[in-house]
Amino acid sequence: MSTHRVDQGGVSTYRVFINGRWRDAESGNTFDSVDPSSGAAWARVPRCDGRDVAEATRAAYDAAFNGPWARMRATERGRWLRRMGDALAADVERLAQFECRDNGKRLSEVRAQFADLPEYFYYFAGLADKFEGSVIPIDKADTFNYTVWEPYGVVAAITPWNSPLALLTWKVAPALAAGNTVVIKPSEHASASTLELMHTFEKIGLPDGVLNVVTGFGDEVGDPLVADEHVARISFTGSGAVGKRIATRAAALLKRVTLELGGKSAQLVFADADMEQAVRGIVAGIFVSNGQSCVAGSRLLVQETHHDAFVQKLLASIKGLRAGDPREASTQIGPIANEPQFERLQREVDSARAEGARCVAGGTPLKGSDGGWYFAPTVFVDVTPEMGVARRELFGPVLSVMRFRDEDDAVSIANTHELGLAAGVWTRDVSRALRMARRLQAGTVYVNTYRGVAPQSPCGGYKDSGWGRENGIEAIREFLQLKSVWIGLSDMADPFPRSAAHSRT
Ligand code: NAD
Repeated sequence: MSTHRVDQGGVSTYRVFINGRWRDAESGNTFDSVDPSSGAAWARVPRCDGRDVAEATRAAYDAAFNGPWARMRATERGRWLRRMGDALAADVERLAQFECRDNGKRLSEVRAQFADLPEYFYYFAGLADKFEGSVIPIDKADTFNYTVWEPYGVVAAITPWNSPLALLTWKVAPALAAGNTVVIKPSEHASASTLELMHTFEKIGLPDGVLNVVTGFGDEVGDPLVADEHVARISFTGSGAVGKRIATRAAALLKRVTLELGGKSAQLVFADADMEQAVRGIVAGIFVSNGQSCVAGSRLLVQETHHDAFVQKLLASIKGLRAGDPREASTQIGPIANEPQFERLQREVDSARAEGARCVAGGTPLKGSDGGWYFAPTVFVDVTPEMGVARRELFGPVLSVMRFRDEDDAVSIANTHELGLAAGVWTRDVSRALRMARRLQAGTVYVNTYRGVAPQSPCGGYKDSGWGRENGIEAIREFLQLKSVWIGLSDMADPFPRSAAHSRT
């Protein structure tokens, strides 16, 4: 029998993973995890609190500074990361089934996403022993000075519900490669795949305390984790509201934070674009994953000469998309991941109508969905940049369409937003593509493509979309700090020299 989960009467009861062992929450309480395709509870997840957090961070601290992980050479850490990648690769199908059940993302999409995740472990495995310090030629003949990159110690990794394992991988792989240990707090709406991944990693025998998971709610687990004295570095992916709260608390405690927050990404379609390609890119950007993606291209800006024709093409392409069980290969539209999000979408769509935006597709829950939280792909036209539907991140399958005159107008509309996660440009003019890439205020700009990610390429937000970067070489720097080491080569000089020109203030 597995120790991480007990299956009884059609319901799975999970345990949390702390210091290499599975156990119940200290409180003994659990909360339900609900299958969004049916609205039925399928699992119980431990409802942790500050006591579990304290145990997890103590274990992580001990592992970071005293255990075998602390003494391990970077090359050996790289080997562990490769083993993690191999273990994940061998378990893609099982893990994908759990995540699909937990957050309702289409199984085929989750499978494809998970099949790529081992590459992130391999990439950061390779980087583990590439961070070289320097010998600094300081102006003191009798002193040798060098620098060395070191881990912070314990990293708190806090993740949202939309892509739990992918977003977790983007934190855990670089944090471990840098030599830290990690306490993970997954979303209360989708914790199962994270616990299942720990079960996968447990089999390779990582030293105790290197990876720990505490499950539960933001105020009961997230708050104490952020404030915990053993946590030196916080890496958060989620909403702007929670990100700001974490940043404020972390600032008071002088903790360093990486924030991957929301987006309201604009896709710009110019008159010279390949319109068929652009339609596919717009659909991929907002309706695949139900818009529950941080880079969802939720604002569509079309050059006014081609606006009406483009909208017609777009509407034709989403007509008849098949909604259904996310496990079925033929399903194109799965459920919304959780009930609060589903209810919020209905409120937002009503409010968009009240503001004067015209709904030309969807705008309602889908009929005949047997208790699941399905919402029709929704398109609003006659949207102006000031409307709430064009301003708020809805994190759902709702597209706001606006018109622009020329490049300046497009850039102005796209950039007049406090978020700057991603942007898309559709044009066949290479000079325009380069001009737009330069002018758009977003951490990622896609041209004639959308939604790509790769372990080698940094991603993150401009403006209020976040601080710091994930993926690419920059990501590992987020988890390293620089130490300067001074070594005297001759006897100590007179502590009271007549000139203090070179002493430290
Ligand atoms: P959320 O902010 O509500 O929750 C994210 C995580 O924070 C959850 O684990 C939650 O329990 C935890 N949390 C809540 N309160 C906390 C607190 N006080 N202290 C510490 N942790 C706390 O976000 P969500 O609804 O789960 O996810 C959707 C959001 O995530 C969207 O805004 C989306 O754009 C964003 N997102 C961003 C990226 C990116 O890479 N930039 C990727 C995916 C999702």
